[in-house]
Amino acid sequence: MAHGSSGGAVADSAPAMRVTLTFDNGPSVGTTPMVLDALAARALPATFFVVGERLDRPGGRELVERAAAEGHWIGNHSLTHAVPLGDDPDPAHAEREIGETQARLGDVGHERRFFRPFGGGGRLGPHLLSPAAVDVLRRGRYTCVLWNSVPHDWDDLDGWVDTALADVARLEHAVVVLHDLPTGAMADLPVFLDRLAALDAVVVQDFPPAVVPIERGVPAGAAALAGLVSEAA
Ligand SMILES: [Zn+2]
Repeated sequence: MAHGSSGGAVADSAPAMRVTLTFDNGPSVGTTPMVLDALAARALPATFFVVGERLDRPGGRELVERAAAEGHWIGNHSLTHAVPLGDDPDPAHAEREIGETQARLGDVGHERRFFRPFGGGGRLGPHLLSPAAVDVLRRGRYTCVLWNSVPHDWDDLDGWVDTALADVARLEHAVVVLHDLPTGAMADLPVFLDRLAALDAVVVQDFPPAVVPIERGVPAGAAALAGLVSEAA
């Protein structure tokens, strides 16, 4: 890791726990502002994977622009978040879900063109991508971003903070999936962030290679997409 000043006193012999924070499925006017406030108060960077249709809602665009202006990265999390890309082999489905969201993002989207597939409550598997979706990602030079920590903030309001902290302690570099949605869970985000700091975990913005099977359209290796793509139609 880089020798830097941002992580506090981290001895070379004791590698810090690293954490990348991601917020999916927003923006939502009732919740995204409190997430942004909690991050800003602690000067922590994150990535927001937004649902394209939500940019069309009143206030949606403004929230994503605020997030980008505050240094967060903005990625694409499909247009409708309805049918996982691996469950619909139609190339038109992949093109619409990925391409129309990226078009809506425009300049506010990060230049690495982050795309995060969805489906199955955070499960990794062949439902995430279709062959056509992979083609769209390659041709469009997208960077596909997965995860390794899903603490179920949406349906475990009382437990997600402990689950996420356990993941951080267990993993060399946790990429935590949370949701800026009005579930009530984000009321505990400040507590989570303060407990992360108490653990001396270092919050970084970038993603470890293990959760990036495609970078700027290029698969990370022959096996990078193994188990993530449905059968061809
Ligand atoms: Zn999602």
